[in-house]
Amino acid sequence: MIKKILIANRGEIAVRIIRSCREMGILSVAVYSDADRSAMHVRYADEAYRLGAAPSSESYLNISAILNAAKKAKADAIHPGYGFLSENAEFATKVKAAGLIFIGPSPYSITAMGDKMRARELMKKANVPIVPGSGALSDSEAEIYSMAEEIGYPVMIKASAGGGGKGMRLVHSAKELIASVKLAKSEAITAFGNDAVYLEKYLLEPHHIEFQILADNHGNVVHLYERECSVQRRHQKVVEETPSPFITDTIRQEMALHAISAAKSVNYSGAGTIEFLMDKNHNFYFLEMNTRLQVEHPITERVTGVDLVKAQIKVAMNEPLDLIQEDIQQRGHSIECRIYAEDPGNGFRPSPGLIKQITEPLGLGVRTDGYVYEGYEIPVYYDPLISKLIIWAPTRKEAIDRMKRALFEYKITGIKTNISFVQRIMEAPAFVEGNYNTHFIDEHIDELLQGDQKCEQREDIAMIIAYLDYQNKQHKRMDFHKDASSKSSNWKNFGRLFRHNPY
Ligand code: ADP
Repeated sequence: MIKKILIANRGEIAVRIIRSCREMGILSVAVYSDADRSAMHVRYADEAYRLGAAPSSESYLNISAILNAAKKAKADAIHPGYGFLSENAEFATKVKAAGLIFIGPSPYSITAMGDKMRARELMKKANVPIVPGSGALSDSEAEIYSMAEEIGYPVMIKASAGGGGKGMRLVHSAKELIASVKLAKSEAITAFGNDAVYLEKYLLEPHHIEFQILADNHGNVVHLYERECSVQRRHQKVVEETPSPFITDTIRQEMALHAISAAKSVNYSGAGTIEFLMDKNHNFYFLEMNTRLQVEHPITERVTGVDLVKAQIKVAMNEPLDLIQEDIQQRGHSIECRIYAEDPGNGFRPSPGLIKQITEPLGLGVRTDGYVYEGYEIPVYYDPLISKLIIWAPTRKEAIDRMKRALFEYKITGIKTNISFVQRIMEAPAFVEGNYNTHFIDEHIDELLQGDQKCEQREDIAMIIAYLDYQNKQHKRMDFHKDASSKSSNWKNFGRLFRHNPY
């Protein structure tokens, strides 16, 4: 039995996990860095322990501090969330060695899938299609040339230990190949401490479609259908939806079988995600497996009705899955928009700072998984994700309309956000038609940024109006005794000017 769980994470995912613990009657333990003393997860958990200074290396990546906190709190288990130590086999091993339950797969599964080249080898053996590519690159330039020639340009150089959209380089022709391999190797060693790189065919107009799976320790594996994650910026997801508007039922079934084989091939246990890339002709290939909860898991929860965190906890308690494949259905349509503290009009620069005011959307079919509140100061040290807005509706069209309505209601002041940027994604004809691939944002960037630039212009106009108003008032003050019954203020007029769109 698990009675108390320490959540080795922060932000929205820590709050999300604590919510499920509370519903299950399990006590929750938060951990925090100095920058997170007043964070929502600390306020919401039953207990909280300090880990260390603000940088992640001293706090959320500090294995011994986390294990000490778990010991002090007498926790039975640790949930790693996503990011930080969630895919770190050494952490999972040490958690077990400390006599605690790691809520996630075994260190073996994490290691097997953690290295991209090793995972490709394993998938090949399990007959899961992989993106055409090479094994580890040798030092022989001639060999590298001939491998790239065989795969066919363009090729992608990938770091075997890469992740988070980092460690990838696109090569269009033989001319750039060797220089790019050298650069990729040196970047890989700096970023991941491992310089192994390999080549992959660069798929044209690809879709990123992933499958959620759940496995227990008794040999049962089910899938919970797909998530279409092709709305990406710099290889990072921004909007996700399920079902995918791009695939048919037959393809869905075929992909699901491969996802289950992939999970079984590494004796997987818990919640995991098999990512596939699909070309425009619906050929699909294994990309990688994420051995943890995904950021975008709520859209799967919304269409299947399964609480994935509760399912993870039950598997960790050695319970058999209480679902069979036939019972899991995709009902209706769900979309998630990631809301970031960033400034799209200024190169998407992170925009940490004080939240002056926040109004979150409510109403039918709306879920927000967030963690910021009025008066909270977003620290500079971590990912700028503020919340995830998750919509459900019976059809895709209604889900898009509902998402637009919810985004209209979403108001955050004090910092810049990407709310209007994702609003414009919802309005873009290619998205509305479901006719988009991973290049969607790049191809429509001008149209998607237009409003943000307009917004900036509007701020300029607002400043000019404010200055004129100030000047005007100065004059009025001087003229006060002459005309005490002055007309309505310019501020009122200014407000009326923008009344058609108060957001
Ligand atoms: P990471 O582990 O860093 O997230 P992935 O291998 O999962 O990297 O790839 C992230 C994204 O990069 C994919 O969703 C896709 O948009 C793009 N990508 C990766 N590999 C390829 C490829 N071979 N061809 C085309 N796009 C690719």
